Amino acid sequence: MSEIVVSGIRSTGNLHLGNYFGAIRNFLKLQEQHQCYFFIADFHSLTTHPTPSDLLGNTRQVLIEYLACGLDPEKCVLYRQSDVHEIPELYLLLNMNAYLGELERCTTFKEKARKQPNNINAGLLTYPVLMAADILIHKASKVPVGKDQEQHLEMTRNFAARFNRMYGVDYFPEPVAYNFGKELIKIPGLDGSGKMGKSEGNAIHLSDPPEVIRKKVMRAVTDSGPTQANQPMSEPVANLFMLMKIISSTDTYQYFLDSYNQCTIRYGDMKKQLAEDIIAFIKPIYDRIIELNNRPDYLKQVIELGADKARQSASKTLKEVREIIGFKAF
Ligand code: AMP
Repeated sequence: MSEIVVSGIRSTGNLHLGNYFGAIRNFLKLQEQHQCYFFIADFHSLTTHPTPSDLLGNTRQVLIEYLACGLDPEKCVLYRQSDVHEIPELYLLLNMNAYLGELERCTTFKEKARKQPNNINAGLLTYPVLMAADILIHKASKVPVGKDQEQHLEMTRNFAARFNRMYGVDYFPEPVAYNFGKELIKIPGLDGSGKMGKSEGNAIHLSDPPEVIRKKVMRAVTDSGPTQANQPMSEPVANLFMLMKIISSTDTYQYFLDSYNQCTIRYGDMKKQLAEDIIAFIKPIYDRIIELNNRPDYLKQVIELGADKARQSASKTLKEVREIIGFKAF
């Protein structure tokens, strides 16, 4: 059954392989099956005070990268949050029934407040309310979120149920997390531990040229090599094998796995092969990033189409919400 799905996209570009396999690949599937609203969360980004020139540049880059990956503006509604004025209005209305205690208890708020003690602004505190507005404005039923966003989604359900209760209506659905089941994979970084991430400095970006990818992969952490047959792998080596399993052909993966198990492996050869396979995998995306960078008219068209479609759905919801609350015509 087709559902209404809403998901935010962070508004800084430079997506990496982790983003691709963790989130974007799932978006590509979702857009085929559901009514999807994907938005670039540029209002949310204001909590960290970007400069005006960065704000547009970041949004443009992220739009280009998502289009290059295959998000199709004909199949999904791809828009910029700040183009939909109904969202901040719903945010204001929801704020009236969001309580200081519950907002202060939110784990991500506590974390952010610890990280930026000199900038604990009200936007940071009410971040989950804006997120609820993003979701409820389209009356979404499903939200593809990572573990770290589960609490926000729970708060969205609370705000939706509270609204329904307060006004004695059955208006907002209570959205749940989209369950990808086994499809969720964690892409490791190249530094031997943890996951590939934007702030870790261990990532391969979709916009990295081939020579940069080669350098990054060749620098990846390994160990001194296996000394006995079928020796368990150290974490850095297991990470490289995991990347290879995802990116390279089954034969290539099996060849290096066998040579590891027989202690004949040369990590240099493995890295060279992995780098070339990553380059080949990224090439169509990389080429399209460059192409889209030179098509400002097309980008304008995409963002305007997205704004139109998102506002159609959002204005309908807001009109109904206003009536329920009691803002009726004279
Ligand atoms: P971020 O770039 O940290 O804003 O992440 C955006 C989304 O990309 C996350 O919600 C995850 O779904 C996905 N993601 C980021 N890093 C990884 C990774 N290393 N492995 C798998 N998925 C990831």
